[in-house]
Amino acid sequence: MTDSAHPVAPLDPATRSRLAEAVQDGFPRTVADLSSLVRIPSVSWDAFDPAHVRTSAEAVAELVRSTGLFDEVRVSTAPLGDEGAQGQPAVLATRAAAPGKPTVLLYAHHDVQPPGPEDRWSTAPFEPTVRGDRLYGRGASDDKAGVLSHVAALRAVHEVLGDDLGVGVTVFVEGEEEFGSRSFGAFLEQHHDDLAADVIVVADSDNWSTTVPAITVSLRGNVTFRLTVRTLEHASHSGMLGGAVPDAMMAAVRLLASLHDDDGAVAVEGLTSREAEHPERGEDQLRAEAGLLDGVRPVGRGPVLSRTWSQPSITVTGIDAPSVAEASNTLLPEVSVRISARVAPGQRAEDAHAALERHLLSHAPFGAHVEITDVDLGDPFLVDTSGWAIAEATAAMTEGWGAEPVQTGIGGSIPFIAELVEAFPEAQILVTGVEDPETMAHSPNESQHLGVLHRAVLSEALLLARLDARP
Ligand SMILES: [Zn+2]
Repeated sequence: MTDSAHPVAPLDPATRSRLAEAVQDGFPRTVADLSSLVRIPSVSWDAFDPAHVRTSAEAVAELVRSTGLFDEVRVSTAPLGDEGAQGQPAVLATRAAAPGKPTVLLYAHHDVQPPGPEDRWSTAPFEPTVRGDRLYGRGASDDKAGVLSHVAALRAVHEVLGDDLGVGVTVFVEGEEEFGSRSFGAFLEQHHDDLAADVIVVADSDNWSTTVPAITVSLRGNVTFRLTVRTLEHASHSGMLGGAVPDAMMAAVRLLASLHDDDGAVAVEGLTSREAEHPERGEDQLRAEAGLLDGVRPVGRGPVLSRTWSQPSITVTGIDAPSVAEASNTLLPEVSVRISARVAPGQRAEDAHAALERHLLSHAPFGAHVEITDVDLGDPFLVDTSGWAIAEATAAMTEGWGAEPVQTGIGGSIPFIAELVEAFPEAQILVTGVEDPETMAHSPNESQHLGVLHRAVLSEALLLARLDARP
């Protein structure tokens, strides 16, 4: 499905089969190492014990050392900006390129999302468990399998190509991706020279299926903020004044309803969509993936994947109001909600934010007071697919999977990618990954398909060998 402007040379068949053998022989160790990492509950959120993230960083450093390719593997932090506070520990290792050879930066993250309600897990979240083809556990896929895809590929490459590997390699395993990569910018600044690379592999995304790989080439951006709606100076008895003055909930509900039209498509002037071709994904598959209830219709217009990859979306993700149990007969003076909007590739997050603000201020019903605070922005991202690195990766994945990769978008954002591009504008970015549509990252019963992991490791080993062989 790719028309590359860059024809690439075939990899020497002997090297290819020796790499396949090394990956195969090393695979039990790869799964064992992944399981050990899953046992460490490295949740990077403020409310969780940072000691586990530290332990996990040390364990990852040990795995990177075990590749035998690096003289020094460091565990480092970068400042968060306020009074000496530091971000969560990342792992950094560099190996210089031989003259004339490219350098590749391999990125993954070792922190994980909180497990969520334990009773929704079939087996304990931090007790790695194999059922069928899958390894279950929090972080088993996102993104500890990403870490192992780098480590196992490097082991295989070292074994087959030996010590005179010419391609330069930097490994950067972040420790707070799931908590907004807060010190990422500072880390990039502190280690700019160590991180500089010709090719950046971000192993933190999805595959098309368990048998067809994907390279993610477009990501939506995000705009999130707190929206506060006020209508009264104080609460009043709803029996006394209800029907004569608007309570804040009434105003907020009407304002929120104005964000979508009757099809459930975004109805905010100034939010743009991207024109692009999208692979087919039927409504049945959408229904199954989302768990859409009987009789509930999908929302939006156009091809399913255009809705999630190339059009904006707006979701209310939280609301501050009295709970049902504590509800009294009162007109609420004030309601706050959290709005999470996705920005289509091609629009700057800042411009999307301005459009949302214009809409919310101009649609305030009954003259309600509307305030927007706690704004967080992440720009969308489109990969330049014309470079030689994507041609090499496409060839490597086609060999590693026995199927050509699909160039996909994802509806979520990986905000740090925009920061990477800004810091290293010359680098070619390859967003790969170990997930598949059944991974359930961030949800209970997250799992890694082991066949996918095997193919991802082999593809990356083949890519490294290809980069090493580049004239
Ligand atoms: Zn991730």
